[in-house]
Amino acid sequence: MNCPHCYVHARNWEKKISKERGLKLIEELKELNFTQIDFTGGETLLIPELFDYIAKAKKLDLNVSINTNLLLLDYEKAKFIKENDIYVYVSVDGSNKEIYEKMRGKGTFDILLKKLELLNKLDISYSIIFSISTFNYIDLPNMVDFAKKNLAKELCVIPVIPSGEAKKTHIYLDSSRILESIKELSIKAVEEYYKVNIWCAPFLKLLDLPKNVFVDKCHAFDYIDLAPTGDILICDVIDIPIAEIRTKSLREAINDILKNPLYKELKERTNYCYDCKVLNFCEGGCYARSWIINGDLRKPDPYCPKVLTAMGK
Ligand code: SF4
Ligand code: SF4
Repeated sequence: MNCPHCYVHARNWEKKISKERGLKLIEELKELNFTQIDFTGGETLLIPELFDYIAKAKKLDLNVSINTNLLLLDYEKAKFIKENDIYVYVSVDGSNKEIYEKMRGKGTFDILLKKLELLNKLDISYSIIFSISTFNYIDLPNMVDFAKKNLAKELCVIPVIPSGEAKKTHIYLDSSRILESIKELSIKAVEEYYKVNIWCAPFLKLLDLPKNVFVDKCHAFDYIDLAPTGDILICDVIDIPIAEIRTKSLREAINDILKNPLYKELKERTNYCYDCKVLNFCEGGCYARSWIINGDLRKPDPYCPKVLTAMGK
């Protein structure tokens, strides 16, 4: 769909690992006690091997979720999703036709509504993901109504990271706009008593948010991010490989991650954070943003208001 916030479209990921390697990798994940596989895009429903991978993962009793814009969903795929108990994250970046189609193009909003109906008809559990940008931040409170009306389990909000297309289109928000938007969203979430999850902005734990608005930690130390090329990335929004599974087993690759100097550096990000009350939770925040904006993974999140004050900004 050529979305202006996509961090994948601009990447050079043409040369993918084989399906055999992908299937073997799923076995290795199980052997190493991983419990969850989350398939992301680009657009997940464009991955030709997706349903073979999912079938394998489910056979091994792994939990599976997919991220999709739903536009390619049909009844057969939806039935497979239901029968295999797959959790769905649906990217919806506007609560109305005008805003949504600014991101995904003409004619897409009505298709989305039909596909959401299909999920509900088959009683498939799903969350909505809203990537917050200059295009749509005004719409954020309306998304609570949209998610509630369409029976989504929760609304997940992620600030667009200045990576990939967004780096060119400049549609990412600055820190103060994110803070303001989240405060407005929280008021609405309380009014509607609706669950909201905020991703990739752990510094928001500094705010006094209501109990139905959750701030997620950076998932870096709990997940591995695998590119289609077989590279394990330090985070999926930036091109820094820290290991690979093309020539190595997953066990060997994980040993390589733990020895990687960059991975170790992530633990030394406390210069501006040492007296922070949420340091144990936030751990210096989003290091991908530190890399993109400051060119240094060790620096704390450049969007954190406490860091900005400490730096005199
Ligand atoms: S480094 Fe940033 S973008 Fe990556 S998972 Fe952590 S918070 Fe999210
Ligand atoms: S000061 Fe550091 S640990 Fe505290 S919220 Fe900001 S980035 Fe996170």
